[in-house]
Amino acid sequence: MELTKTAKLQIYISESDKTLLLDSMRAYSDACNYISRYVYTTEDLSQISVQKHTYHTVRSEYHLPSQMACNAVRTVIGSYKTNKANGHDWVMCKYNTPQMTLSWNRDYSLNREKFSVGTLNGRIKADYAKSGMEQYFDKSVFRFGTAKVVYKHGKFFLHISVNYDGNEIKEADICNVVGHDRGIRFITSSYDSNGKTTFFNGNEIKQRRAHYKNLRKQLQQAGTPSSRRRLKAIGQRENRWMQDVNHCISKALVTSSPKGTLHVIEDLSGIRSATERVRIKDRYISVSWSYYDLEQKLIYKANEHGQKVIKVNPRYTSQTCPKCGHIDRNNRNKQKHIFCCKNCGYTSNDDRIAAMNLYRMGIEYLIETQTSISSL
Ligand SMILES: [Zn+2]
Repeated sequence: MELTKTAKLQIYISESDKTLLLDSMRAYSDACNYISRYVYTTEDLSQISVQKHTYHTVRSEYHLPSQMACNAVRTVIGSYKTNKANGHDWVMCKYNTPQMTLSWNRDYSLNREKFSVGTLNGRIKADYAKSGMEQYFDKSVFRFGTAKVVYKHGKFFLHISVNYDGNEIKEADICNVVGHDRGIRFITSSYDSNGKTTFFNGNEIKQRRAHYKNLRKQLQQAGTPSSRRRLKAIGQRENRWMQDVNHCISKALVTSSPKGTLHVIEDLSGIRSATERVRIKDRYISVSWSYYDLEQKLIYKANEHGQKVIKVNPRYTSQTCPKCGHIDRNNRNKQKHIFCCKNCGYTSNDDRIAAMNLYRMGIEYLIETQTSISSL
């Protein structure tokens, strides 16, 4: 499995090249704003289609080279998808500060001596802060990906995505299974091989989220330049807070499990039928705000600790009896938070049912994969 790290470093652009780079970054941001207006109106999030509709103008009016024109589309689609994944309303993404996303070996390169970047008016080379960077030049381990140039308080910084292979464990080495359900009352409910249930209470997060949402709504209604600035600052603060919470949760989930643990979570990306989508999307938007981010962090940390994450079909996980497999929506009494199987009578608090079913699906996954191994 491929993992990604972000290396952040300062780059020292000479006074004479400064304008050149800043002009290119401004052109890039302007192009992003143009593309963003198109995406906002059409709600089109397909790279190919957005590119088809904006490419010509981005090239002729903003003068971006072709590779950068594609990067700008990717930048904008990425912003909208992140907002969507975080459950934010559909608002227009704006790029007010000069920035630029670069493809490795095309728009930029970096070696032990210099950083080199293409501008709208030729290439420039620059020194950079080398401390901590040496390790990434080991090509047998790390591969450079896209980089972002940002300009902050009069200084230039480079954020490089560095890819490397994680040390994924084999199914045969798995000694513990944990199912994690993500929900409203509890951010996660987990059920493991020892029959132990653990909850992360979601109340505080729910309240703070509601507070942010309310604040955003008021600022949107005000619609003044200063309220827009505050809106942006609040969005960034909420995002940092969310990342922080997810970091703590994923860390706790991983460090409380032994090496060789299989984590089982719901796969919400491939939900097909319309009714199911509404139901789960509602739950997703109103509840698991930063589902995707938490998932990424869990996968990343599990991999570092010799553990593995699988995603399974989320259908019926809260209606199925974890003891006899009977599926019935009446098994669950949502008001009383009680699960009672209509077939075998198994009764439990309903918050742990989905986690128990995910646990069971993890066991099934192991049986299936081992069967297929032995039948080879
Ligand atoms: Zn049952």
